[in-house]
Amino acid sequence: MKIKVGVVGYGTIGKRVADAVLLQDDMELVGVTAHSYNYRVAIAAERGIKIFAVDGERESLEAHGISVAGSFDDLLENVDVVVDATPKKQGAENKKIYEAKGVKAIFQGGEKASVADVSFVAQANYSAALNKQFVRVVSCNTTALTRTIHALDQKWGVKRARATLVRRAMDPAASRGGPLNAIEPTFELPSHHGPDVRTVLPNVEVFTTAIIAPTTLMHMHVLSVKLEKDAAVEEVIDLFRNTTRVRVIPVDQKIITTAQVMELARDLGNKRGDMMEICVWDKGIGIYDDELFFMQAVHQESDVVPENIDAIRAVMGFEDAEKSIEMTNKSLGLK
Ligand code: NAD
Repeated sequence: MKIKVGVVGYGTIGKRVADAVLLQDDMELVGVTAHSYNYRVAIAAERGIKIFAVDGERESLEAHGISVAGSFDDLLENVDVVVDATPKKQGAENKKIYEAKGVKAIFQGGEKASVADVSFVAQANYSAALNKQFVRVVSCNTTALTRTIHALDQKWGVKRARATLVRRAMDPAASRGGPLNAIEPTFELPSHHGPDVRTVLPNVEVFTTAIIAPTTLMHMHVLSVKLEKDAAVEEVIDLFRNTTRVRVIPVDQKIITTAQVMELARDLGNKRGDMMEICVWDKGIGIYDDELFFMQAVHQESDVVPENIDAIRAVMGFEDAEKSIEMTNKSLGLK
């Protein structure tokens, strides 16, 4: 029996998760919600994805020629689990509906950790999400920090990690946001990302600061990590090469900027030009005294997609974390 999945909120994250669900042998995409008529919904309908209308949008969708399969309620009646990728705070509102209907839900990082039983990054705490009703896939930044810091912690032990996040101002398709021509500091110490990493890795001391830069493509993190045991640069490169959903970027291939990383993703033929792996530049890794330094780029629109797929399997009771990660990776062309 395939897992029946619905996607609520068909935007940047929702449309990517829906496409990833379609690639899984053990899942069926029952349909996606449409909150208003737009090109994303029109393309989904053209591709044969079933559309379920929210907030009385049925008439307006049908007026635009969209064949509507039912309401939000109808979608919930026909699924085992929903991935809620609505804008932040809407997920917490929707939780009341999922509770009333007894439907399992995967929330996104825009929601507070308290929305769910578990905050989730597959390679760090898959088993904590087993059979839970509500799981939160953490934000793009938290996912990225968790993937690399967890790998270091497993191998050498992390005494403490410090990271400065250079955050993209908005997503590429957005027309509102900013700054447009300035760099904006975040006056929050730590920035919310450090405590958020600790919702997944409670035993690792992580402190973050953040600034926002006028770019849309990727976030960039600059990390300094004190390890419990000595490590050499080559060993760190090896570790990241062998860490799932992390990619070591060879500087010698002249992949220097985040724009070139995104171009690499397009040249690899990745759907939508996505880069779901966290990209660590090999020549950006260094050790000074007892501190490890490295830089990583994060494609905010896509790195959480594989996590959503693994979270679906975990809440449905699929016990083998490694197998789930392997299945997801294979379907999405990740290592
Ligand atoms: P988005 O604005 O691109 O998409 C949200 C979609 O939800 C839109 O299609 C909108 O029409 C729809 N929607 C709005 N209200 C709705 C409702 N009541 N019912 C159903 N659909 C509704 O947002 P996004 O960037 O995909 O973000 C979704 C979640 O993912 C947020 O929690 C966000 O913090 C998180 N997230 C975003 C990114 C990113 O960079 N974009 C990265 C990681 C996590």
